[in-house]
Amino acid sequence: MHHYHSLQKTLDTHPMGAPMSEEFIEILKILFPPGDVELALLLDFRLRKAGEIAERAKIGVEEALAKLEAMADRGSLLAKKVEGEPAFALLPIYPGLFEYPVMKGGDQKTQKRLAELWHAYYMKAMAEEVARANPPWNRVFPAEEALSEEYEILPYEVASKMMEKVDTIALANCPCRITTGRCDRPLDVCLSFDGAARFLSERGMARLISREEAAAVLKRSEEAGLVHTGSNMADRLVFMCNCCSCCCHFLRLLTEHNYTGGLAKSGFQASLNSPACSGCGICAKERCPVKAIIMKDSLADLSPEKCIGCGLCVTTCPTGALSLVRREGCQPPPANGGELVKAIAANKKRAK
Ligand code: SF4
Ligand code: SF4
Repeated sequence: MHHYHSLQKTLDTHPMGAPMSEEFIEILKILFPPGDVELALLLDFRLRKAGEIAERAKIGVEEALAKLEAMADRGSLLAKKVEGEPAFALLPIYPGLFEYPVMKGGDQKTQKRLAELWHAYYMKAMAEEVARANPPWNRVFPAEEALSEEYEILPYEVASKMMEKVDTIALANCPCRITTGRCDRPLDVCLSFDGAARFLSERGMARLISREEAAAVLKRSEEAGLVHTGSNMADRLVFMCNCCSCCCHFLRLLTEHNYTGGLAKSGFQASLNSPACSGCGICAKERCPVKAIIMKDSLADLSPEKCIGCGLCVTTCPTGALSLVRREGCQPPPANGGELVKAIAANKKRAK
């Protein structure tokens, strides 16, 4: 079988999936040029030391290491130290093959071609694949200013509380907005944490920032009408995106593809006190990313079932007519990344 088809099949074994399409094969040809793809084919999602990979490839360790390092530098492979030695693994599509090479940047022509291919692949195959995940990979974190002290707020529900637990934070440009380019909202709002932050900063795809800078990114994003979305797990943050509904691959599952379960809602939802509404239209026209609010008879009209609980409407309503309230029957996120992946893989198998 063609090398690139074999690699697609291996990547598709990850619970994130990597369905076959001609666009994806084209993407793989860019990310793993001839000479590299043969080495990538010897890998899977488990970190393997360079010596072991060289042995499998029947080449010298130095030669293997040079190629593996170059692939990791381009964002095509994950690299970490295992027992002090460099080790490498394949990356899933999200977060990984889609984001990292775009964050790294490079020659304009290749970046433009990658953007076209990723867009086509997302529309044709990947959106549906991601939307099938049960529970969803990512979830919405509410704008903190919108949260009221009236409700008990669990630590995993609040972005800044989750950030208190991390050691390392890195900031990168948003790959969705770079590749989709449908709006001019801020690019430098893509946060990653700990292991992911170290890998991305070491490889020149992101820069390390302080906790204070990260808090400022969250605030700046809320002001710009961007939704905080992050890993759908209770124990830690791997990344925190700040998303628009026109470019983000996960928010667009709801706004463009009508996969209502493609992104987990926050534990809150908007509530409208209609008599207090002045009819300014800010919530409907400028803030709600999922059209859960429309203007009807010159007043706001809220569809709570569409609301994802981002709180963006609440923070800018000039009359205080909007608030966030607890969402009834909201399930807590999986306890950790392992539980999330296990549940998605088991439900995917069951659905086959
Ligand atoms: S922002 Fe507030 S006052 Fe303005 S339309 Fe929306 S609910 Fe009404
Ligand atoms: S109504 Fe829209 S803006 Fe307001 S919290 Fe819900 S999804 Fe967010």
